Amino acid sequence: MTNKLPDNLHRDTLAVRVAIDPSQYGENSEALYMTSGFIQPDAETAARRFAGTEDGYTYGRTSNPTVTSFERRLAAMEGTEAAIGASTGMGAILMMCMGLLKSGDHVICSRSMFGSTINLIGREFGKFGVETSFVSQTDVGEWKAAMRPTTKLLFAETPTNPLTEVCDIAALAALAHSAGALLAVDNCFCSPAMQRPVEFGADLVTHSGTKYLDGQGRVMAGAICGPSKLIVDVFGPVVRTAGMTLAPFNAWVVLKGLETLGIRMQAQSANALAIATWLENQPAVARVYYPGLASHPQHELAMRQQSGLGGAVLSFDLRGDTADAARVNAFHVINSSRVMSIATNLGDTKTIICHPATTSHGRLTEVQRQAAGISQGLVRLAVGLEHVEDIKVDLLRGLDGLK
Ligand SMILES: *Cc1c(COP(=O)(O)O)cnc(C)c1O
Repeated sequence: MTNKLPDNLHRDTLAVRVAIDPSQYGENSEALYMTSGFIQPDAETAARRFAGTEDGYTYGRTSNPTVTSFERRLAAMEGTEAAIGASTGMGAILMMCMGLLKSGDHVICSRSMFGSTINLIGREFGKFGVETSFVSQTDVGEWKAAMRPTTKLLFAETPTNPLTEVCDIAALAALAHSAGALLAVDNCFCSPAMQRPVEFGADLVTHSGTKYLDGQGRVMAGAICGPSKLIVDVFGPVVRTAGMTLAPFNAWVVLKGLETLGIRMQAQSANALAIATWLENQPAVARVYYPGLASHPQHELAMRQQSGLGGAVLSFDLRGDTADAARVNAFHVINSSRVMSIATNLGDTKTIICHPATTSHGRLTEVQRQAAGISQGLVRLAVGLEHVEDIKVDLLRGLDGLK
């Protein structure tokens, strides 16, 4: 079916049309293949499939047709040759690191990356002799100064959580390639509907499918997108032996999620921009962090990389004479909400409100938190699909009391 698709289709069309392979029943919605094993036509075919000289499904840890459909559709949307699913976003990053790194290799990461990514690469891979430098999200000079002859991988995430700092993908790709290293980008916050890192020179793209790809907060999933020689020859064997395999049911959910990704990102970005603009004029708010605002330090770069959209995540600092007073104000705004969910995930149709300093970044020391710019008055919103006026009223319930 996919083979019959014409070339040069728009991304919205790819999102609903790539990888439809109806069974003998001709179903129009993608089938879900719940099976751990696959019947082999004969012993000879089984032998060839296990030797890798013939394509075909053998065992669910290696691959599954529903997972393949998700991988093909995501690769088409990211503009990469191939993709490989993983059980979670962290499973995808683990797969990437196992595939690319060995003892003595060096990695450079932004200091503002997802906390579990920092712990996985810095602490867990540190145990196996992988060395990591953590540098500024926005200062390419710091990345350059950190380069070593053993540097194999530069890994960036843009925009970051919760302060929405944006890094220059093209500049980091040029730096990596000048030294024979690879650039990987965690594209969780933007998704391929808004940002395609390979268009700016990145080699690999990682995803937490748990976030916007699913988009409705239902399942855990992850993926790596990139060239076939890495996806098939390097990461395929890792998933087969290490088992961070994407489950067929979860693959089916995110495959269907991809169909509405484009309109969700448009609508949630529009809601977030309206709320960010409005928050900038609230007297209790000291500062708003959102790439879609002209006041954002990397606004122009963000608009260039993100198809003119700011994304759905924003943060704001509440005023307060002391850190304690600012935290009391932040808790008051969060606790006054009657529509938004108090939770720490993102990428849902439901707006989520949280206090990073005591949740996602609660395990940092106060000095580390201050270095990361995460104050006690900071509140993060992951804006969903509710009517924007209802979210404003929900925020005002708390903000009004602060004047
Ligand atoms: C959530 C997240 C991850 C990890 O994804 P899981 O699916 O929760 O394992 C990685 N990177 C970023 C930027 C995330 O927000």
